[in-house]
Amino acid sequence: MKIILSSLFVLLIHGSLLASEQLKVTAGWFWPAELKEIPAQVEFAKSLGFNAIICCSNTGEEEFIKECNKKGIMPVKILEPLSRKYGARLQEISADDKSHDVKHKLHQSGGEPADGQIDILKKKLLCPADTNIVRNVMRDVKESIKQGYQGVCWDFIGYRNLRSCECAVCKERSGGMNVDKDAFYEKQLVSLYNQLQQEVKALDSKIVTMCHIHPVYTPNLFYASEIDIDYGAVTCSWFFTPHWKKGKVKKYLKRVYGSSSCMPMVGYYQSGPLEQHAKSEKQIDTEFKLLQKYKGSSIMICELGSIYGNEYLIEKLQKLLK
Ligand SMILES: [Zn+2]
Repeated sequence: MKIILSSLFVLLIHGSLLASEQLKVTAGWFWPAELKEIPAQVEFAKSLGFNAIICCSNTGEEEFIKECNKKGIMPVKILEPLSRKYGARLQEISADDKSHDVKHKLHQSGGEPADGQIDILKKKLLCPADTNIVRNVMRDVKESIKQGYQGVCWDFIGYRNLRSCECAVCKERSGGMNVDKDAFYEKQLVSLYNQLQQEVKALDSKIVTMCHIHPVYTPNLFYASEIDIDYGAVTCSWFFTPHWKKGKVKKYLKRVYGSSSCMPMVGYYQSGPLEQHAKSEKQIDTEFKLLQKYKGSSIMICELGSIYGNEYLIEKLQKLLK
């Protein structure tokens, strides 16, 4: 009985949140010491105008969910379906791709590569066609719902070379003369997202599903509009230098907001170990002028800890989100 009551409580909060406003979501790694305490993290996100937080930690989750419920913020669990714990077959990289995996200063870590550069994601990922994934991920989804999470956010669904997997199974399936490789590899990603969506909604239709498309799929940067998901976040301005020019951000925002199930993801590393990627006030200004045109729409902005203490960014965010 206790479990039924608490899940009802969660659903009521969740219902009222979605009825009144669009999803404004952030995630945090919380580098500043001041944000080590969970209530301070949630309070800070609330003060900026966010109504959802993606939890990136495996500790303190009970307290995190409790604080979120207290403040009317949707707690969201991040899950990485291609993490090796969910399957058996890892993606393979061709020798040719490996030879390009050289260190250069403009590496985008799964974001869209800088002009003229080739990036391979360092992190090992499963082949998205591994048939164990959905069943194993759903075990963690069930656990997260039981903990009180109201949403799940998929991360790291994509290819390490940003376009294909060279494992024996993929090579055999895509090897025919008439196979359009780009379409084949895109379909594998779409299929995994859609299976997960079906399973989550079958389990509990109230659970909100979202993702950040990362690593990007270079043959079609906007395939998020083709997947079944409540909110598919597409990067419209990435964390790392070189920061995106106005024309590009504008074009991407228009495209992403043109699709009803998509929202932009805008990244800021203003502090902590990645401080050298901090955006200038001029860059922040450019981005928020463009974002302001879509005020009231859904959005994903990361990283929460990097916003802390940056009054310039805080002011822009509050104006946009509140
Ligand atoms: Zn494969």
